Amino acid sequence: MASADPSTIAYLRDSYRPLAECQVPINLHAFQYGTGCFEGIRGYWDGERINVLFMREHFERLAGNARLLHMHSPSVEDMCEIAQELVRQNRCQQNIYFRPMVFKDGLELGPVLHRMDDGYLCYIIPLGDYLDTSKGLDLCVSSWTRLSDNTIPTRAKATGGYLNSALAKSEALMNGYDEALMLNSRGQVAEGSAENLFLVRDGALVTPDLASDILEGITRFAVIELANLLGIPVVERPVGRTELYRTDEAFLCGTGCQVSWVRSIDRRVVSDTRGPITERIQKLYEDAVYGRDPRFAHWLTPVPVS
Ligand code: PMP
Repeated sequence: MASADPSTIAYLRDSYRPLAECQVPINLHAFQYGTGCFEGIRGYWDGERINVLFMREHFERLAGNARLLHMHSPSVEDMCEIAQELVRQNRCQQNIYFRPMVFKDGLELGPVLHRMDDGYLCYIIPLGDYLDTSKGLDLCVSSWTRLSDNTIPTRAKATGGYLNSALAKSEALMNGYDEALMLNSRGQVAEGSAENLFLVRDGALVTPDLASDILEGITRFAVIELANLLGIPVVERPVGRTELYRTDEAFLCGTGCQVSWVRSIDRRVVSDTRGPITERIQKLYEDAVYGRDPRFAHWLTPVPVS
């Protein structure tokens, strides 16, 4: 699993310093109660600069989720500037992943969200593939139910909510699968532990709608934009479990996994090779994020390193 180099320069509260010096107390509220919200953002190295993918969109989502959780984030502009400064200070020259977080920075006992200081941090780790994209993924439907919007909203990308993802992902890996799909409390398909799901049914993309207890994935919106451009219909609606076993193609998408094709679900083979629609979406996505297709230049924020 990927982790950050301790000498890398990170940002904590209001200063830049080596990650190894970014310490928080053991009685920190965010540590005790999981009271934080975060983002994962990719930066792609093109040989001269880091192209940060959907930078503004990620920080807008973080600021909105902080508000949802009674937290105050720095301004979107400031968070964008800090991310770019980290690229410059670390002289990054490979694909990277930013982990920004807004968190409850108080030491008081008791699970509340109001009347407490908020902190902000951001650090960078090198990141290649998050899931093994060289082969199709073998998925299972998890025995764990996805958090519902009225428990810990998945939409909020809250740190504490990732216990739900971790239970599902570890169960899947320990049982020999690559990733888990979770059903929501209504028994409909929600998403993976850190990915949104698309099926291909009768030539159309089908994906759980935004009220299906999913994260409003930024890659998900990007895939919809690509499908519109390619003339592939997209249907956002509740998805039944057994549709997973009848689908023509399936893929996961997310900042980490990018576009990753699915080979099987619960030991039912979806397809032994990457399906044609998945292939078109994946190829266009890769051309976009690596800056090879100028139609998607607005997805990227170039940060020169030297
Ligand atoms: N769902 C969950 C639960 C996630 O953690 C992620 C990763 N952020 C996604 C979906 C994909 O979202 P995005 O495309 O914004 O990375």
